[in-house]
Amino acid sequence: MTANNRLTYSFGEGKAQGNTGMRDLLGGKGAGLHEMTRIGVPVPPGFTIPTSVCRYFSLHHRRYPNGLNKAVADALRKMEKHLGRRFGDPVNPLLISVRSGARESMPGMMDTVLNLGLNDLTVEGLAVRSKNPRFAYDSYRRFVQMYADVVMGLKSNDRTTADPLTQILDGKKARRGIRYDTELTADDMRELVSEYKSEIKSRLGKEFPEDPYDQLWGAIGAVFGSWNNDRAVAYRELYRIPHHWGTAVNVQAMVFGNLGDRCATGVTFTRDPATGDRRFYGEFLVNAQGEDVVAGIRTPRSIIELKRVMPTAFNKLRRICKLLEKHFREMQDIEFTIEDDNLWVLQTRTGKRTGFASLRIAVDMVKERIISKQEALLRVEPDQLNQLLRPIFDLQGKENAQQEGRLLGRGLAAGPGAATGRIVFHAEDAVAWNSRGERVILCRIETSPDDIRGMDAAQGVLTARGGMTSHAALVARQMGKVCVAGCEALQIDYADRALRVDQTELREGDWISIDGSTGAVFRGEIQTLPSEILQVLLNRSLDARHSNIYQYFSKFMKWADQTRKLGVRTNADQPDQAAIARAFGSEGIGLCRTEHMFFQGDRIQAVREMILADDETGRRRALAKLLPMQREDFKGIFEIMGSLPVTIRTLDPPLHEFLPKTNTEIEELAEVMGVDVGTLRNKVNVLQEFNPMLGHRGCRLGISYPEITEMQAQAIFEAACELRREGQNPFPEIMIPLVGSRQELHEQRVIVDRVAAEAMKAFGIKVRYLIGTMIELPRACMVADEIAEEAEFFSFGTNDLTQTCLGLSRDDAGKFLPSYVLHGLLPDDPFVSIDQDGVGALMRIAIAKGRRRRKGLEMGICGEHGGEPRSIEFCHRIGLDYVSCSPYRIAIAKLSAAQAALRK
Ligand code: PEP
Ligand code: MG
Repeated sequence: MTANNRLTYSFGEGKAQGNTGMRDLLGGKGAGLHEMTRIGVPVPPGFTIPTSVCRYFSLHHRRYPNGLNKAVADALRKMEKHLGRRFGDPVNPLLISVRSGARESMPGMMDTVLNLGLNDLTVEGLAVRSKNPRFAYDSYRRFVQMYADVVMGLKSNDRTTADPLTQILDGKKARRGIRYDTELTADDMRELVSEYKSEIKSRLGKEFPEDPYDQLWGAIGAVFGSWNNDRAVAYRELYRIPHHWGTAVNVQAMVFGNLGDRCATGVTFTRDPATGDRRFYGEFLVNAQGEDVVAGIRTPRSIIELKRVMPTAFNKLRRICKLLEKHFREMQDIEFTIEDDNLWVLQTRTGKRTGFASLRIAVDMVKERIISKQEALLRVEPDQLNQLLRPIFDLQGKENAQQEGRLLGRGLAAGPGAATGRIVFHAEDAVAWNSRGERVILCRIETSPDDIRGMDAAQGVLTARGGMTSHAALVARQMGKVCVAGCEALQIDYADRALRVDQTELREGDWISIDGSTGAVFRGEIQTLPSEILQVLLNRSLDARHSNIYQYFSKFMKWADQTRKLGVRTNADQPDQAAIARAFGSEGIGLCRTEHMFFQGDRIQAVREMILADDETGRRRALAKLLPMQREDFKGIFEIMGSLPVTIRTLDPPLHEFLPKTNTEIEELAEVMGVDVGTLRNKVNVLQEFNPMLGHRGCRLGISYPEITEMQAQAIFEAACELRREGQNPFPEIMIPLVGSRQELHEQRVIVDRVAAEAMKAFGIKVRYLIGTMIELPRACMVADEIAEEAEFFSFGTNDLTQTCLGLSRDDAGKFLPSYVLHGLLPDDPFVSIDQDGVGALMRIAIAKGRRRRKGLEMGICGEHGGEPRSIEFCHRIGLDYVSCSPYRIAIAKLSAAQAALRK
C-alpha cells in the first residue's frame, strides 16, 4: 500500500505517518495531532482514518473499503505496544476516544465517543489499576451515556425534556440531594451503569455492546455518519464547505483529567480571541473530562490559576503553547488534559476570533516577525472589518434577549450593525419622533424612495419584504444604516399600527432591536456600543492617538492600499456621504444617483410638476426650479472630493416613482399646478407601467425629455466651473444609464457636450470631464465595441445586469431565491455575489470589445457587487480599473482588492 492510499495513519512516541500538510486527507484535527507528535509535543498515541474512507462510506451505503478491518487492527496493535496496555484486556485495558475532524473545523457539529473499550470486565481492571473505583465507574457511565446517544441514537422525545439517561442521572442526584456529578459515589455510578443499560434495552430493544471491537466499529460508523447529520449539513451550507470533503476519524488513547486532584482538563488560546491581546488565555477544571468544560456543567477557572494549582504542568503548557504558535505561525486554540501532573495535548487548531482580534493578531504577528504583511492581509476576512465600524450589541444583552425568548425572527442581514429603538411605521413619523429626540426603527412592509428621509432619521430599518438589492437594503448600506430586510415572519399592519409575529404583537412606540450583521430581530431594547473608528474618522470625537483599535485599523489599511491594484470608489449622492467616503479613503465617486437628490426638502413638488407638465415649456419651468438646487448639491460633492473623479448619473428610475400617491398629495399638487384634481389623477394613471423596471426609465427618459439631461448637465458644469474659478479642480464623469445601443448614448452625449461647452464658455474656464455609460443590459455587453466609440468609460451596473441577464426581478426574486440557493440551483444569491458564469461572461465580452475599440477605456463597477469580496476578486481577475461601493464598505473593498492581488 502506498503512502497515499493508506487506510490508517498512525502517530505516537515522537513519530507520525502524517503531517500538517495533509489536512485534506487527515482533517484539521488529525493533521495537527500528527504534526504535534513530530515536533515533540506530548500527544497520546493513536491513528487517523482518512477522509477518503468517509467518502467511500457515504457512497457505498455505509460500507468500508476492503482492508480497513486489518488496517485498524494493526494500528491498534501499535498503540498497545507504545502504551503496554491491550484493548479489551480485563487486567490492564486500553481505552480510546473516537473523534471526528474535517478539513475545516466544524465545532460541535459532528460526533465524538470517549472512554471506549469499557465493559463489565474491563471496568474492574481500570478500577484496580487506577486504584480509583469511583473514577472507573464514572468513566464507564459517561461512556454508556455518550455511546447510547451518539451511536445507538437514544435521544429525548421532544425538545423540552432531557434525554432518558440524563433523566435517570438527574433523578439519582435529586434523590441523593446533591447538585454536582462529582458528589456521586462509586456505588452510585455502578448503579447508574446498570440502570442506563436496562433503559437502553427497554427503549431500543437491544443490548448495550460489551465487545470492545463492536463498540469501536459502532463508533467509527457513527462518526463518519455524523458528517451528514442535519447540523453538519447546515453548517457547511452556511460556511460554504463542500459536502464531498468528508470527515476523518481520529482514534486515540484516552488520558484522564478525572483521576483525582492532580488531574485537570482545559482549553487555552495563545492570544485573547475577543481582543487579540497577546496574553495566555483560557480555562480549566480540576478532576474533569473535556466535555465538562464545554457543556458548562461546572464553571471553569481562569488558566492563570493553574499556575498555583499545578505549577509544573502550567509552565510546560505555557512553553508548548508558545512552541505551537511559533510552529504554526498562527494563533492556536489548544485542548489539554493533565493526568497525574502529566500534561497531554489533545488538539491544536487555528483559533476563531472576532473581527478586531483578527486584525490585531495579524498586525502584531508582522511586528513580531512571525508573518509577512502579505500573509497578514490574507488572514483577515474582509467582511470581518464590518465589525470594527458598526455599533454593536452588547454581547451579554443579546444573549439575555435570546434566553428570554425575545428573538422574533430573522431576515437578510442587509445593513450591518446593531440598532435599538421604538417602532414607527411611517417615514414621516420617523422624522417627527427623531426630531423629538426619540430613537426609532422604521418598520415597513417594504420601502420606497419616499421613505428616504424617514430612513435617515431612524436608527435602523426593518422590512418584511425585499432582498439584498431591495431599495431598503441598498439605501441603508449607503447611509451606513442598520437594516434587516425581508423578515418574512413579520406581519405589519399599517392601519392598526402593529407588528405581529405569531402570537406576539408589538405596537407603535414599543421597543425593538435589529442586528443587521446577522439578520436577527428582537423584541425590546438591547444596549449598543459605538465604534471607535467612526469616532476618530467621522465624528472626530476621539483622538486617533488614543484609539488602539484605530491605530491597528489604519496601519492595516495602509498595507492593503500598498498592495491592491483595483481602485476603490464609492456610491454617494450627498455631500455627507461623500465626506464619509473620503474619510475612509475613497478614490472618487463611482456612482451618484441624482434621483436621490430629488427627494430632499420640498424638491419633490418641483419634480412632480416637471413630470406632469403638459409640454416642454411646463417641464422647463419646473426644471428651472430644480437647477439651482442640483447645482448646490454637485458643488457640495465636488468640494469634498477635490480633484478626484465624481461619476454622476443622469436620471434613471421610472418617473411614476416620484408621483403623488394619496388623495391629499394629488389635491395639494393640483392646487400648486393650477389644474383640476381629476385631470391630474388621470395623468398619474397614464404614467403607471406594468413592468417599470423595463419601462420608461434610464436614458429613455433623457431621450424622451432631453431638457432633463440638459438641466442636469447644466447643474453639473456650472457647479464645476464655479469651483474651478475658485481655484479648485473638480473632475465630473457624466454617466448615462441603461444604454442598449450606441445611438442612445450618442444622443445624450451630444446634449452633455453642448451644455458643457456653453457653461465653460460662459465662465471662460475649462473643466476636464468624461462622458461614459453604465453597462447594465445584455445588449450593451454584446455591442460594447460600438458603444465604446461614444463612451470614455464603462461602469457595470450589475444590479440591472443581473436582473436582465437572469430574467430575475430584483424586487421580487427575494421570495423564491433563498429556496433556489438552498436546493443548490444557484450557488449564491446572484444579487449578492456576481453570477460569474453568466453575468461575468457578459462582462468579459464587454471588457474585451470595449477595450479593443478604445484603448485606455476606463472600466469600473457600481452595482452592489462592488462591495462584496468574492465579486471584487472577480473584478480584479477580469481587469476592471475600480470598484465602487457604499461608503461603509470601502475598507472591505480595499482589503478584498489587496487579497485578490495577492492570490493572483
Ligand atoms: C445597477 O443597476 O447595478 C446600478 C448601479 O444602478 P441602480 O441600482 O441604481 O439601478
Ligand atoms: Mg441600474
